[in-house]
Amino acid sequence: MSATRPTTWLVTGASRGIGLELVRQLLSSSEHIVVAACRNPEKATVLKDFKDSSKGRLHIVRLDVSDFDSIRASVKHLESALGELGLDYLINNAGILTQDTAFTLNPEQFLQVVRTNVAGPALVSQVCLPLLEKSVRKVILNISSTAGSLGSVEGWVGGAAGFTSYAMSKAALNMLTVKQKAERPDLTVITMCPGGVRTDMTSKMGELEPEESVAGILKVITSVTSEDSGKYLRYNGEQTRS
Ligand code: NDP
Repeated sequence: MSATRPTTWLVTGASRGIGLELVRQLLSSSEHIVVAACRNPEKATVLKDFKDSSKGRLHIVRLDVSDFDSIRASVKHLESALGELGLDYLINNAGILTQDTAFTLNPEQFLQVVRTNVAGPALVSQVCLPLLEKSVRKVILNISSTAGSLGSVEGWVGGAAGFTSYAMSKAALNMLTVKQKAERPDLTVITMCPGGVRTDMTSKMGELEPEESVAGILKVITSVTSEDSGKYLRYNGEQTRS
């Protein structure tokens, strides 16, 4: 660890896809301490390999964002990993996608999508507040999707009809960002779309490899200031509509 103060990060959904790539790129710089949260640490073999070579800069914490008890139980582990440094960046990345439409959606499945994609991130942000308050940067990044934007739904690859529960959950997440910003002007809260990224969620289809999307996300998020709070940005820094 360098003599300068390290920057601290919490990434949810860190076992695969964009979350795993975020952890990988953050660990490439010795200035970062990373908490990688995942629901099944036993199965997160790549994360375990990262940890072995991280020289103590990676902590793996069990956190199922759809299980509110799990979120509350993670606090003591976060506190012990981050201590007095607090949390500079919280990245609410974990998410699920279901294929459904407005007239076929299963309401129980819809609630599970909302639980995972917005209720969980809201509670993660709440329980992390004391750690964010201790930090220098105080940034929350809610990873959303163009699917949830009223202004761009017609042009989105999933179309106006499909992925309805997912789209509604991400629209709610966009509103959460705005409400978090309004309630806590001392924080910088950003919504970001990572672009169309080749991960399991997209069956490896999309315009971007995770490396490119995540490089963009990290560049943008490390440059935002409190003036940007409440904004909806794309991975390449463009501002967009929520
Ligand atoms: P993946 O499906 O590849 O990965 C999803 C990650 O979320 C996995 O690590 C998964 O963990 C985790 N996760 C799912 N449910 C939970 C839960 N209940 N608790 C904790 N972790 C959970 O998706 P992506 O990496 O592509 O997506 C990451 C984020 O980016 C999501 O929020 C998604 O909506 C968003 N996004 C992605 C786009 C894309 O093109 N890929 C486009 C727009 C937005 P596990 O391994 O345990 O299943």
